[in-house]
Amino acid sequence: MKRIGILGGMSWESSLVYYRVINESIKNILGSSHSADLLMYSFDFDEIEKLQKQNQWDLLREMMVKEAMNLKLAGAEFIVIATNTMHIMASAIEAETGLEVLHIAKVTGEAILKEGIKKVLLLGTEFTMMGNFYKDILEAMGIKIVVPDPSNRAFVHHTIYEELVKGIIHPLSQSKIIEIIEDSAIQGVEGVILGCTEIPLLIREGDVSIKVFDTTQIHAQAAAHMSIFSEDK
Ligand code: GLU
Repeated sequence: MKRIGILGGMSWESSLVYYRVINESIKNILGSSHSADLLMYSFDFDEIEKLQKQNQWDLLREMMVKEAMNLKLAGAEFIVIATNTMHIMASAIEAETGLEVLHIAKVTGEAILKEGIKKVLLLGTEFTMMGNFYKDILEAMGIKIVVPDPSNRAFVHHTIYEELVKGIIHPLSQSKIIEIIEDSAIQGVEGVILGCTEIPLLIREGDVSIKVFDTTQIHAQAAAHMSIFSEDK
C-alpha cells in the first residue's frame, strides 16, 4: 500500500468522514483486518476561514505547501486535499512537493462520466462555484457545469461556513438546498456535485430527483484505490 498524506481539518467534520471511508474501502478491498496507511495534518479551520475571507491566498498556499512537505518527509507518497476549495492550490502543492495530488474534480468527473451524465449543477463555496478548477477539468472531460444564481450561491456559501463546518445541521437549510437542486433539474441538469465536503452531511442520494455526486465519498474511495493499486512511477 502507498502511504496517503491528507491535508485535513477543513473542516474536521468532513475529515472524520474521509478517515472512515478510506479505512472502510481498504477493508472492503483487502479484507481481513486491513486498514489504511495514512497520515493526516489537521489545520485549525478558524485560521483558514479567516484567511480565505481576507483573500490571503498566497499565505494559504504557503501553509498548504509547508504541511504537504511535512507529510512527504514523514513518508506520504501522494497527497489528498480533504476539501474542494483548497484545490485552488493543487498544482502549486504538486509542483513544490513533487508528489501527486489526487484531484477531487478529476475523480468526480470520472464518476459523472460513468453515469453517462453530461450536465451537472455544482454546489460549494463561492470560491469553488466561481473558480476555474472544477470548470476546467470537467469541461475538458466533456461535462457542462452550471452554478446557482448569485443569491442562491450566497445561501449555499453561508450554509457551509455558518452551519456545516460548525457541525450545525438545519432542516430549513436542507429544504432550501433541495429546492435549488430541483429548480436546476427542471432546467435540464442531470446530476448535482456536492462540491463541498460538508454538504453530504445535509444532502444525500435519494433526497433529490437527480443523481448526487458526493465528493467526500468519491474522493476518499479514490484515495483508498490509489493507495492499493497505483503503480510506482
Ligand atoms: N470543506 C469545504 C469544501 O470542500 C469548505 C471548507 C474550505 O473552505 O476548505 O470546499
